[in-house]
Amino acid sequence: MNSSKNTARGLMCALGLLLTGAGIAAQESAPPTNPGSSKDLPGTQEAGARSPEELASVRILATGGTIAGAQANPQGYGYKSGAFKVEDLIKAVPNLDKVAKLTGEQVANIGSQDMNDAVWLKLAKRTNELLASPEVDAVVVTHGTDTLEETAYFLDLVVKSDKPVVLVGSMRPATAISADGPANLYNAVAVASSPEAKGRGVLIVINDEIHTARNVTKTNTTNVETFRSPNRGPAGVVNTGDVHWFERMDKKHTVDSEFSVTGKNTLPRVDILYAHANMSPDLIDSAVKNGAKGLVIAGVGDGNMTQPALDTLARHVKKGVVVVRSTRLPSGLVLRNNEINDDQKGFVASGELNPAKSRVLLQLALLETKDPNRVQRMFEEY
Ligand code: ASP
Repeated sequence: MNSSKNTARGLMCALGLLLTGAGIAAQESAPPTNPGSSKDLPGTQEAGARSPEELASVRILATGGTIAGAQANPQGYGYKSGAFKVEDLIKAVPNLDKVAKLTGEQVANIGSQDMNDAVWLKLAKRTNELLASPEVDAVVVTHGTDTLEETAYFLDLVVKSDKPVVLVGSMRPATAISADGPANLYNAVAVASSPEAKGRGVLIVINDEIHTARNVTKTNTTNVETFRSPNRGPAGVVNTGDVHWFERMDKKHTVDSEFSVTGKNTLPRVDILYAHANMSPDLIDSAVKNGAKGLVIAGVGDGNMTQPALDTLARHVKKGVVVVRSTRLPSGLVLRNNEINDDQKGFVASGELNPAKSRVLLQLALLETKDPNRVQRMFEEY
């Protein structure tokens, strides 16, 4: 209960009373703005020197999440994701219009725990349409943090443009004291406007850091310092719009990706199963019976699991189900043919990809092939 999000919730009750007392209904108004002028914001000073015509045109696509969240009611403990609209988010950030020429549209307004294939396909289609236009230089997607990494990696694999795509969320709702959303959005727009963001694949900007979609993962349930890239570290840092880049990603993405969702209305079902001591194979059978075409195992250690689970998976591989061994551990690679003979059993080793990212890649891989050798090659290249 001593986490930042829960502490913020307690403080929000007091703030909520003030808002209500002033006759401001959180759901109907813009989130509170941060005080400050362009003088306080180094990034803005730099951007402010540019004429409006020189600024990048950035389209903000909003999907909901805590960044657009408000407390449910003044006395309430929790909060509601996606209470504010995209216009409210833009209005809440001082001087954002000096960083880029902004327009916004609402693609969805959900907590990202409800993110699904239909919204992904809509988002991918819209992002590709926008980036194909000479009028749009970059896209920023506002999103809940729970599945931020999955949406980012999905877009990384299916966006056909080298223009910047930046996802941003927040850990505290817009009505919280010290809400992190406005600063994160400011930095996200600054990164999206940075000429050096081009060709880096889809990025996540949060808590003054820039991460690549492929490497990043949420590591803490409530702390603002939750997104990390455990195996490789961040792609850069950004302080009040001042962007500094680190090394470029060597894996394929966006314009080099072989995956496409053009014309697709659905994606194949891929389930994740969590390995543990005494793991029984029943859930594996159940997933396949219920229509899973691919399975990702969040294995113990280096993608391990019990012998009955291994035997059951090998049986399903023979019938065309693609099985990827990932790990429930936060870092490290799952190695091929290390403790488990993947060649013999027909499994795919996930390498650096965690179970959630492995699921995204396998969904797209299954649009192309059921051959585990081809899927293994994809896991090595993306
Ligand atoms: N449950 C929220 C979401 O993912 C959490 C957040 O945004 O931080 O939409």
